[in-house]
Amino acid sequence: MAHNFNQLKKSILELSITEDWEEARREWEVVSTYHDPDSQCTCGKQGIAEVNIIENKWTGEQLPIGSKCVHHFLGIKMHTIHANIKKIQKDPFRSLNRDTIYFFYRLGVINEASFKFYNDIFRKRNLSVKQERWRYSINLAVLNFVNQTKKEALSNKTGEPLLTNHNS
Ligand SMILES: [Zn+2]
Repeated sequence: MAHNFNQLKKSILELSITEDWEEARREWEVVSTYHDPDSQCTCGKQGIAEVNIIENKWTGEQLPIGSKCVHHFLGIKMHTIHANIKKIQKDPFRSLNRDTIYFFYRLGVINEASFKFYNDIFRKRNLSVKQERWRYSINLAVLNFVNQTKKEALSNKTGEPLLTNHNS
């Protein structure tokens, strides 16, 4: 089953202040992201592995949404960011890319100093041991955030189930 953009639109507008789809784009932002093969997108698609939590800036309402639907709704290429996170999960000594660094900087996972540092080392071919360690620790912070978010979402037993597949 493909992503159902009409269903996505309907669900998002139900939780938006505006009734206008274009306006609604300004009310929502991605606040979290993680991997989980058993999740369901707000559009109804099941088994999305890349889960992104979008939050309404005014009401605080949250919805789980797949990368394809995030791109459709907010124009953010979350799939690229997820692919980059997976690369780092395999080898935390490698480099995250600019989009991913910027995304986690905006979320507050990466602080200003680390953000600047990462941007500085993009052009460098060889890193010192100290620089390698710093980059590694930033990568771990990103991975921890992604893993922690998943755990919190799964243990959220109040209100609407964020991740439960109703058919399983
Ligand atoms: Zn979807």
